[in-house]
Amino acid sequence: MFSKVLVANRGEVAVRIVRALRELGIKSVVVYSDADKDTLAVRLADESVCIGPTPAAQSYLSIPAIIGSAKSRGAEAVHPGYGFLAENVTFARACAEHDLVFIGPTPEAIEMMGDKNIARETMKRIGVPTVPGSDGPVTTVAEAARFAEEVGYPVLIKASAGGGGKGMRVVENPEQIEAAFVAARTEAAAAFANDEVYLEKYLLRPRHIEIQVLADTQGNALHLCERDCSIQRRHQKLLEEAPSPAVSPELRERMGAAALAAVREVSYRGAGTVEFLLDERGDFYFMEMNTRIQVEHPVTEAITGTDLIKEQLRIAAGEPISFLERVPLTPQGHAIEFRINAEDPFNSFWPNPGTIKTLTLPGGPGVRIDTHVFAGYTVPPSYDSLIAKLIVWGATREEAIARGRRALDEIAIEGIKTTIPFHRVVLDEKDFIAGDVRTDYLPTHEDVLLAGASSAGATPGALG
Ligand code: ADP
Repeated sequence: MFSKVLVANRGEVAVRIVRALRELGIKSVVVYSDADKDTLAVRLADESVCIGPTPAAQSYLSIPAIIGSAKSRGAEAVHPGYGFLAENVTFARACAEHDLVFIGPTPEAIEMMGDKNIARETMKRIGVPTVPGSDGPVTTVAEAARFAEEVGYPVLIKASAGGGGKGMRVVENPEQIEAAFVAARTEAAAAFANDEVYLEKYLLRPRHIEIQVLADTQGNALHLCERDCSIQRRHQKLLEEAPSPAVSPELRERMGAAALAAVREVSYRGAGTVEFLLDERGDFYFMEMNTRIQVEHPVTEAITGTDLIKEQLRIAAGEPISFLERVPLTPQGHAIEFRINAEDPFNSFWPNPGTIKTLTLPGGPGVRIDTHVFAGYTVPPSYDSLIAKLIVWGATREEAIARGRRALDEIAIEGIKTTIPFHRVVLDEKDFIAGDVRTDYLPTHEDVLLAGASSAGATPGALG
């Protein structure tokens, strides 16, 4: 096992990784930008290094600064977390060139799955269904319009290098296609320095179901059941649960087999997620593979009794997956994750950075909080708005929901607006309670959510 690992990230995931390192007896080095010098990860880590000014391009995305810090502090490996350089093939290669273990898959696997277009071709070749789409990239409006006529509107323009819902545009009719095409390319160029886009048929009312996979260097590959991430805003996840209320053991087995086929095809190693859309008929389609740990990994940990960050570290160090004797895993109980963002959910989820005046966190059975914030902390405007994750576990979905209500009533954050009241309203909404949620949940439940919000506003947390 490694003796020292550098954490190339910030926020809650940096804290999460430092904790795993501490439990494994590995020394941690955290890098930070000027804006983050007083953060929790920096306080908890054994060592820390300032790598540059606040803009991510000059700090968390600076490959020379990160590699230089790892070498000067004597780290043997680098954990990239999620976002920033986690799926950057140049970074993975730079680590290898400097004799550092990149905690993730090989550069070749990142490359094959990182380009969504190539990933789709790979999946088609091995017989996994994909959403009907253009044959490769689309470079002109005319070509885009031709594809849309062929498969029928609505269609979705997607960035090949896409992530976080960026560079994506739904097109309802021919009048919209030109503007959407230009907008998607511009956004993709700005976000990923790559303006390549392709088209897909836009599926109506699907669920977002993803399969967590793990593969070690000894040839063991397994899946850890699914997560249902259908509650989204503008294609970005807000609430995730495991298992999915829509997935039977038989469907889980088929989706798990499709995910593992992808793992084998690209000789994947480490933790990864294969994302699918599930339609109303129960047919599923490959969407993309994320070659990193994901924000929502704790719900899987809760229902499988595993620690995915430790597994990543073990695999990167050449050790086998630690729980092979328990495979195949079946879900134990039910878990829900609530993303607590510094955003105003009742004002278009507008970012709401600022100083946290008081903070009361929930506890008790089945409650987990992953966060880097504390009372007095100022949420900077420069990065992602995720400030905490609340994960609840229950023996049944009903118990998890009841626990979620209880924990969301206990939590109180004063000073900034957050998504907490949004989650609280969802937990009382009848379609959510029935497990009947699709990716159009927000637009189709706006009235209920807003009505719930005005009454929730009167009691901002039992303790608040
Ligand atoms: P990103 O990598 O930017 O997160 P994804 O490919 O993972 O983008 O898609 C994000 C979300 O967009 C999905 O969860 C789903 O809600 C929606 N989506 C993507 N592709 C389609 C499609 N072909 N039809 C309908 N919805 C889609």
